[in-house]
Amino acid sequence: MKKEQAGLYIHIPFCLSKCGYCSFYSIKSINLIPEYIAALKKEIKYYRNIFSSFDTIYIGGGTPSLLSAVQIDDLISTLNKYFDIDRQAEITIEVNPGDVSLEYFQALRKLGINRLNIGVQSFDDKVLKFLGRRYSSKEAITSIEAARASGFDNLGIDLIYGVHGVNIKSWKNTLQKAVSFAPEHISCYQLSLDDRTPLYKKYSLNDWHLPDENTELKLFLTNSEELENAGYIHYEVSNFARLDKFKSRHNQKYWQHAPYLGLGPAAHSFLNNKRWWNKAAVKTYLNKIVQGKMPVEDTETLSAEQLQLEALFLGLRTQAGIDLKLYKTRHGIDLLADKETIIDVLIKNKLVELRNGFLYPTRAGMAIADSLALI
Ligand code: SF4
Repeated sequence: MKKEQAGLYIHIPFCLSKCGYCSFYSIKSINLIPEYIAALKKEIKYYRNIFSSFDTIYIGGGTPSLLSAVQIDDLISTLNKYFDIDRQAEITIEVNPGDVSLEYFQALRKLGINRLNIGVQSFDDKVLKFLGRRYSSKEAITSIEAARASGFDNLGIDLIYGVHGVNIKSWKNTLQKAVSFAPEHISCYQLSLDDRTPLYKKYSLNDWHLPDENTELKLFLTNSEELENAGYIHYEVSNFARLDKFKSRHNQKYWQHAPYLGLGPAAHSFLNNKRWWNKAAVKTYLNKIVQGKMPVEDTETLSAEQLQLEALFLGLRTQAGIDLKLYKTRHGIDLLADKETIIDVLIKNKLVELRNGFLYPTRAGMAIADSLALI
């Protein structure tokens, strides 16, 4: 049997400005990028005897498109030096519409990057301004067109819904606009606001509200119905793919407890039931590497119960659902026998379905996936 290959995530924690809703850790000091690339290369080397091969690479952020093609080439060459990168690997980079050009995309393709994720978020200039994004809808469209013109045939678009003042009708227009570019992948993330973000303060001052539960549900169902009607597969709560082959192979590793290595500040890794994560501050991360130490913040070994609960939680967020036989083999639990009463209630309420040995969430079930996992 072929050994399971791991996924690799590289975090680029730099952003030119801070979007009003963002609570991710990122810094504006792009002058640190060369030092940061050098540190990442050392971190890559540390792991050469722990991981051997990868079949997905995901460069995320922050804003990875602040890196030049030469810097990305440097990282990919280092990976190839220490690891076996599958010839068919899915190699994704997240890009920001304001930073990119046809030439940049052409250079990325030459490096073997075969999947782009464009952080469009909205096609409405008012919404982009409200969110604190630093590009216009015109630039977002130009970036999609440039990606296509450079030959990218696996393109993802990220959108944000639940923004104040965007009703269902205008949200549908956004979805239709996204579909008009026929991207291979669409992610729809619901706006959530951490109380430390500037947008949270704006909401409080203006007495604005995030959608109530009922509107949230309507928006979620709108995403699912509109995109499925347009031919997309709703394969995870927030994710849609035009064909099976366009489902994010990298993200599926997270959902299936496959091994993955995360490099850079705050990045998480998982191997043999052990999870560890790096220090979040860039300066601390850099200092550790300079001192020849691992920048790991902490490690946890997942107990059998944690693994089983996570598998339930993650499985019920995906269209693939839970393979009951595999679940029993891996976790020693017959889910149907163990949760018979509650599963019966969920089936009666059309929140889950039982078919061919799998337990699936229905569309309505996916809408409340986090609560479903509490069964
Ligand atoms: S570009 Fe992304 S990571 Fe950077 S501030 Fe905006 S939302 Fe946050």
